[in-house]
Amino acid sequence: MIFIEKPHQGPLSLSEYENKYLALIHEYKTYENIPADLLTALKYKYRIQEVKDSLFSCSYNKCAYCEIIPEGSRLQIDHFLPKTLYPEKMLNWDNLLPSCTICNTEKKRAHDTKSEPIINPTKIDPEKYFEYDNGWINPLSGCEDPELAKQTCKVLDLNSSTLLYLRLELLNALLETKITLEKKIANYLKADTETKKFNRIRKIFDTCNSFQVFSEAKQKFAGFVRYFLRNDDLYQRAEYHTMEFLRDNPKYRTKLDAYRRQ
Ligand SMILES: [Zn+2]
Repeated sequence: MIFIEKPHQGPLSLSEYENKYLALIHEYKTYENIPADLLTALKYKYRIQEVKDSLFSCSYNKCAYCEIIPEGSRLQIDHFLPKTLYPEKMLNWDNLLPSCTICNTEKKRAHDTKSEPIINPTKIDPEKYFEYDNGWINPLSGCEDPELAKQTCKVLDLNSSTLLYLRLELLNALLETKITLEKKIANYLKADTETKKFNRIRKIFDTCNSFQVFSEAKQKFAGFVRYFLRNDDLYQRAEYHTMEFLRDNPKYRTKLDAYRRQ
């Protein structure tokens, strides 16, 4: 899970529908008293295309919770405060999050996130709350609120067999890339001329770039990959050698940057 930069304001049409809807709640005192025809005309307006476009683009079409990228139309709109418990928040932009069908289950929909909070990734940076052990996601040791992280894992079932399998698959790909990186570092350390050093550091740089691509916000499980890279000795060593080489040979910086853009 990673932080999602969501615009403070949603589409204007949604606010207009919300204003009409809140006026009805006010007029009829409670949500339940609103006549069915009036309610039906408004209650699903959070599903309008403008809302989907704006909401889904801020998470790069990923589920805000588990970070998978569902195919086709399987990305849904989740109400962070469940609409069954907080119907007044049904059309509230701030309460809407993109979610996959796996995370947006009955369990999540029935859970009162106000009385028993879970992490809202548009408000709290989840990377400060989670760590990974192989494919498992756990509360980060020493984090500010381990109970909050634990509750989040439980309510969203973030260690389900499906998610574990997918994270392990990604972990395998990362570990395979590490094998080649190890060889590249060993080769670099054997280089005895500046040209050889540059050619070999370029290969290390290339592998580090491919790791970084996996960690971009638009990629599935970016939070998992970022954690892996922050804590992987070999990757840190590769970064160190690259920086060290550029410090000693600053004239190669432009060449190396050009290589990144290719
Ligand atoms: Zn999900």
